[in-house]
Amino acid sequence: MPYAYDRDNIFARILRGEISCTRILETEHSLAFRDIRPQAPEHVLVIPKGPYVTFDHFTAAASDAEIADFARAIGRVCAMQGLAPGAAGGGYRLIANAGEAGIQEVQHLHVHVLGGRVLGRMLPYAG
Ligand code: 5GP
Repeated sequence: MPYAYDRDNIFARILRGEISCTRILETEHSLAFRDIRPQAPEHVLVIPKGPYVTFDHFTAAASDAEIADFARAIGRVCAMQGLAPGAAGGGYRLIANAGEAGIQEVQHLHVHVLGGRVLGRMLPYAG
């Protein structure tokens, strides 16, 4: 079962209020909060409230309303954190790690919003 959802993963517990987080934005279907181990001056995680493991799971199983809400929440976080390209120091990177190859640590879909510094080339790859 590729999309078995663990209801006790850390982000499910954040959504239930069992673990605290620094909230940036909450919408009907999404929550954005600061990453506990930031990799850049701005490092926000955006998650859907529904029980989805990965991006492909989400887009296959979520409603159009959830998908639109999530996409808009990510865009709003970029704007709210001053990362929209154009301003000095603007620009950002979105990352959604999935599964073994993606080295996904938390088994609840999340998009990392990173910015606040030049982030370097996307990936090291020796071919
Ligand atoms: P992944 O490797 O799954 O894409 O990223 C998981 C992210 O969740 C990591 O960047 C990690 O720092 C973050 N994280 C793990 N546990 C917690 C937590 O309890 N609170 C918050 N705010 N972030 C967490």
